[in-house]
Amino acid sequence: MTAPGDAVGQDGAPALEAKNEFELRVGLSRNVPEMTIRTGLATGEIGFLHSFTTGSAVDGPGIRLVAWTAGCMFRCRFCHNPDTWTMTNGLPVPFERAVEELRTYAHGLRVMGGGLTLSGGEPLMQARFAARLFAAAKAMRVHTAIETNGFYSDRLSDAELQDIDLVLLDMKGFTPEQHERVTGVRDNQRVLAFGERLARLRRPMWLRFVLVPGLTDIPEEMAKLAEYAASLGVVERVEVLPFHQMGAYKWARLGIDYSLEATQPPSAEQVEAAVSIFRAAGLNAC
Ligand code: SF4
Repeated sequence: MTAPGDAVGQDGAPALEAKNEFELRVGLSRNVPEMTIRTGLATGEIGFLHSFTTGSAVDGPGIRLVAWTAGCMFRCRFCHNPDTWTMTNGLPVPFERAVEELRTYAHGLRVMGGGLTLSGGEPLMQARFAARLFAAAKAMRVHTAIETNGFYSDRLSDAELQDIDLVLLDMKGFTPEQHERVTGVRDNQRVLAFGERLARLRRPMWLRFVLVPGLTDIPEEMAKLAEYAASLGVVERVEVLPFHQMGAYKWARLGIDYSLEATQPPSAEQVEAAVSIFRAAGLNAC
């Protein structure tokens, strides 16, 4: 696959907006002093973003403005944005600049029944920035959503969670063994605890699950995830996302070993079989 709009290095830094998240962006904060990064993270005065994209219909309800954040603590074998693993690959964006970007689209997002989604990477690597941006969005009466793996969810207070209208919780596996096999991180207790916290707070949630043949298509794992999700009582929807190879070129360009090179996307039948496992638990799955 070609990589239109590839952006490398700080000279001639790319626009904040990208056509989509599949643009490769590398080293955009490479020359930002360590102290600036630390302060930015502690205060949320600066965010480190892969990009903003507009017009997404798949990252929450309606048409979304998506801010793709840099930095992630997982190393999912199916990740299609490995350039977002490292914070220094993100473009340093002053908080006010991000608010300005949001303001440009706020009216349209309201009219189209859409909103702002923070995705990544893992947005809660930059929890202060995320919380501030969500508060700004709510002040503009814009619907807010976060796509998160939940690992750092304790970085948000209950009050800050109230500024997030919808949590898209990406779940990679139910058992620690499977979670480690997929993400490289064994501890998924924090992820499960986040779902339970959302349930206690009665916050709406969508569960997302990437179906990868030979890696995540394990009926027992999906059944346990389904049972867990159904028990929460706040899961409005389960999205089974078919694995694809759109980000494969990034692994090659970044020189990272990619174990799924020969893996094909799941067939329609395989997706339907996975969806039916979640439906059997009484969930609204698609
Ligand atoms: S949690 Fe998301 S961004 Fe992080 S490695 Fe996994 S798929 Fe990639």
